[in-house]
Amino acid sequence: MKILLGAHMSIAGGVDKAVERAAKIGCTTFQLFTKNSNQWKATPLNDNVIQNYKRLIKLTKLQPVIAHDSYLINLCAKDKSILKKSRDAFIDELLRCEILGINYLNFHPGSHMGTGEDDGIKLVAESLNIIHEKTKGLKVKSMIETTAGQGTSIGYRFEQIRKIIDLVEDKKRLAVCVDTCHIFAAGYDFRTEKSYLKTFEEFDQIIGLKYLKAFHLNDSKKGLGERVDRHEHIGKGKIGLNGFRFIMNDERFQNIPKILETPKGEDMKEDIINMRKLKSLVKNLN
Ligand code: MN
Ligand code: MN
Ligand code: ZN
Repeated sequence: MKILLGAHMSIAGGVDKAVERAAKIGCTTFQLFTKNSNQWKATPLNDNVIQNYKRLIKLTKLQPVIAHDSYLINLCAKDKSILKKSRDAFIDELLRCEILGINYLNFHPGSHMGTGEDDGIKLVAESLNIIHEKTKGLKVKSMIETTAGQGTSIGYRFEQIRKIIDLVEDKKRLAVCVDTCHIFAAGYDFRTEKSYLKTFEEFDQIIGLKYLKAFHLNDSKKGLGERVDRHEHIGKGKIGLNGFRFIMNDERFQNIPKILETPKGEDMKEDIINMRKLKSLVKNLN
């Protein structure tokens, strides 16, 4: 059985270097930024880098690949100029993904900054409709990440993600990513078999499992329902190993990429340890 497991990789030196790093530590899938995540401006991808990236993906068979969008992007920004910048930057990132053959562009729905959750949800959907309209025919999907519900961020209830999906015209362009740290901090428990089944039953009833295309596997420094987003190494946080055991052994999720976003140094030894830990939870692994 092949396990789709990887981590967020640094793009220091170019996006092609992320593929090398992922392969080096034994990832079978990975996540990256396609540009500096703290800047609006992005220099166009250089042809040599694109060619080398594609060559390495073919060679390593690392797939699917997920891009995480810039942290500056807020698709429900109250400030009109930031909203425009966010939409333009998101379009640019979708195009970068398309050039590289990246499957998903993962993003947080956004923060309404006081306008209210319902207005925020409507604005996110409106942004996505404009963005999709301007990027017709792209293969890369816009992947909504579940959030911890910190501050005025939306997307911490499955119902909110459902509302966004309902308002987006081209639903084929959408996917959803479950971040384990975020859903736990948002109040969804999955540490016991009962709570695990209930949480994913709820996900299926409200959002639909067909939308679930990725997991971010992070333990949480903060407790259930605290709505604070602090990632911890697998098994070292408030979730503990059991919750991850259920996900790793759930046949429904076998072909869904699972990505670590836990703290690490340049040698990535923390990723190696976390991946080893996650694999050790899998029953019948030869
Ligand atoms: Mn994220
Ligand atoms: Mn995440
Ligand atoms: Zn997080």
